[in-house]
Amino acid sequence: MNQKGGVGKTTTSMNFSAALARMNKRLLLLDTDPQGHLGNSFGQWQQQPGMDEVILEQQAIQNYIHNIRPNIDMVMAGPRLGEIESRVLEGGINKGLYLARALQGITAQKNYDFIFMDCPPSSGLLGMNALLAARELLIPVTADYLALQGLSRLIQVVNTIEEKMSLSMQKWFVLTRFYERRKLARQIRDKLIQYFPGQVLRTPIRESVALAESPGFGKTIFEYQAKSHGSEDYQHLAQDFMRQHTW
Ligand code: ADP
Ligand code: MG
Repeated sequence: MNQKGGVGKTTTSMNFSAALARMNKRLLLLDTDPQGHLGNSFGQWQQQPGMDEVILEQQAIQNYIHNIRPNIDMVMAGPRLGEIESRVLEGGINKGLYLARALQGITAQKNYDFIFMDCPPSSGLLGMNALLAARELLIPVTADYLALQGLSRLIQVVNTIEEKMSLSMQKWFVLTRFYERRKLARQIRDKLIQYFPGQVLRTPIRESVALAESPGFGKTIFEYQAKSHGSEDYQHLAQDFMRQHTW
């Protein structure tokens, strides 16, 4: 999650989970962004219902699960997911709990190791649903000053929700679109580590052309260019995550 667009949420959802799948973890991906980019990136071009019917009509999520790769299942966004922001759903806190309820029991039943939700670039009702359904937050951050500013707002929102709901979520930060040779990038990384010690995953994801190209071919970085900075970085990131290897 990150309410800023273009920071690598979708790219990370796809390639981080592809890396985990290669480590024999079983994953369920939920595209909770009405833009449906996660499905597109995996080469699922056809519009099909999914999270929209699960959230708007409380349909059983099991009916919308597709196997898209070895070890990776997915529920597409669906064409109507954006309606949730404008619709008057039943009141109060319930509005934020649709996704959490839809997910009850699914982990045990399907034996997933991880469920990933690719969030929209906003902090509306969809984002709230994702937050209240999640146990951990993975926050991609680009190494520029404005990104850091936006981040403090996101953390405030998350803290408020944690207090209100008396829950506490593990947070992970991942540096994306990283230019190693840029002094500014290294400074921002150091700031991030200073603000969130023990929560910044070790491996920054470098800016690389192959990562930008691969979604156009409907491929993960491992399918598109198995030997590239992008595949190396996401592989290392997945290892960091499994070993809790942070700065
Ligand atoms: P978000 O989901 O946060 O909006 P995306 O993952 O869609 O961000 O990334 C935004 C754009 O940047 C996309 O065109 C994507 O291909 C590209 N991109 C993301 N990460 C990288 C990277 N490490 N190197 C190069 N391009 C990247
Ligand atoms: Mg996205």
